[in-house]
Amino acid sequence: MSKAGGGPFLQRLSHLVPSDAIRISRHARRAYGAGYFGHNDAEKPLAIVLPENTEQVQAVIRHCKDHGVSVIPRGAGTNLVGAAIPVHEGVMIATTRMKRVLEFDPVAGAIRVEAGVTNLAVSAYVRSAGWRYAPDPSSRRTCTIGGNIATNSSGASCLKYGMTANNVAGLTIVLPDGERVETGNSGYEVTGADIAGILCGSEGQMGLVTEALLRLAPRARQVRSIMLSYADPRDGLSAASDILRLGILPARFDYVDAATIRLCENYVPSGYPANARAVLLLDIEGLPLELDNLQGRICQAARSFREMRVECEYEARGELWAGRMKIYGAAASRGRHVALDGAVPLSKFPDILATIDRETANRSMTAATTLHIGDGTVHAFLFENSDHPESSAIADQCATAIRLACIELGGSLSSEYGIGIRTQDLLAHQYSRVDLAVQQRCIDAVQAGALFNPGKVFPSLPGAAE
Ligand SMILES: Cc1cc2nc3c(=O)[nH]c(=O)nc-3n(C[C@H](O)[C@H](O)[C@H](O)COP(=O)(O)OP(=O)(O)OC[C@H]3O[C@@H](n4cnc5c(N)ncnc54)[C@H](O)[C@@H]3O)c2cc1C
Repeated sequence: MSKAGGGPFLQRLSHLVPSDAIRISRHARRAYGAGYFGHNDAEKPLAIVLPENTEQVQAVIRHCKDHGVSVIPRGAGTNLVGAAIPVHEGVMIATTRMKRVLEFDPVAGAIRVEAGVTNLAVSAYVRSAGWRYAPDPSSRRTCTIGGNIATNSSGASCLKYGMTANNVAGLTIVLPDGERVETGNSGYEVTGADIAGILCGSEGQMGLVTEALLRLAPRARQVRSIMLSYADPRDGLSAASDILRLGILPARFDYVDAATIRLCENYVPSGYPANARAVLLLDIEGLPLELDNLQGRICQAARSFREMRVECEYEARGELWAGRMKIYGAAASRGRHVALDGAVPLSKFPDILATIDRETANRSMTAATTLHIGDGTVHAFLFENSDHPESSAIADQCATAIRLACIELGGSLSSEYGIGIRTQDLLAHQYSRVDLAVQQRCIDAVQAGALFNPGKVFPSLPGAAE
């Protein structure tokens, strides 16, 4: 029997938000109960609410708490590991109508936005004033700032500009009991505990972010994109390390393997050499004279390259990055696959590339892999062997083996997507019981008996997170 008690609960819920801001049809519940991750027919949300402001969010959360009904925060639903998919009956609160820019300080380089604003919309808003929002997940056109915060998103610019947590100055949060909390300020100094820091990466379990104060980065005067191609992948990886050790901090820095070169060139031709075994893609920013100097030093450090292409842009992401940035589309056009986001230390890149080769070959699968040189992210697209009747299960096993190898190599099972129903059981391999118990205690303390995105993050294996 539903805790919500069906009719009266939903009836009252529908009075807390405008009449067109609640969805209870089978179709809507099925659509919102899924995401990029796929469908989860067993546990559709009880209702989907689309509030317009913090006060409506508070009212809905209080109502759910009073009836012992769980809340599932949702942004745009682009999560790839099932983090925003309900595993228990509950009310989904989607922030997609909370799209207002509340305040922009062009002098300090700070902006306060509602949680449903998309990542790319923030940069678009501040662009003409000479600013941009640096964290750049590939899903930035669609994903929301609230979702970025809950998963601590990042992208190719993380080396120089950090992850979401490094670019959030303050938050407005509605706690699981309905209380509203304000944290942070537009300065860099946090007085007292860094609550916004704890919220980053908390996967919607510590409250619903309704507003965020974001730090902006100056728009670069000029961006120069450089592509270096290599006949031997090991030379490409050594060059990446040599460039960093020279003290050069590229604004974006990725390693692209041979399979990804082919995959991207077939989808959006970007001029990556067809016969290269590896490519380094990097952006440097500054004034033209500085860029000439940096380019010269990069050439020296990366001397074993076979070919170099340079593109001068006033906007980052010209043709050289076009193929790389469309990799998710390229992978989808190629066929069924699992997208994976482990992380390893830079020194372990050769080991994880060898592991990916071995684990996929053992299962007659293929992979296309890119690496963020900044945070050690390993983006591997594992293509299913469609000849095999169990191809999806085998691809999942392969992904698990690679994620476990990332942990073994001193890294992490996830770098960007966060922990969802696809990956949560593996967390017990990365953290000890005590480590997990401390995290659980923090969340329990904030939830104080309410249920926020329950059944997520922590391993469901018996005893794993005691
Ligand atoms: C094509 C593609 C490319 C991607 N590339 C990247 C990438 O480069 N880097 C990267 O980091 N990720 C990437 N992702 C994953 C995903 O886009 C990010 O995790 C993104 O931050 C999720 O945002 P969202 O608005 O879609 O959140 P959702 O998917 O809706 O939710 C994600 C999590 O955040 C919680 N949540 C959402 N909104 C709130 C809120 N307001 N308050 C509290 N909790 C909330 C949810 O409960 C859930 O746990 C990619 C996904 C796709 C489909």
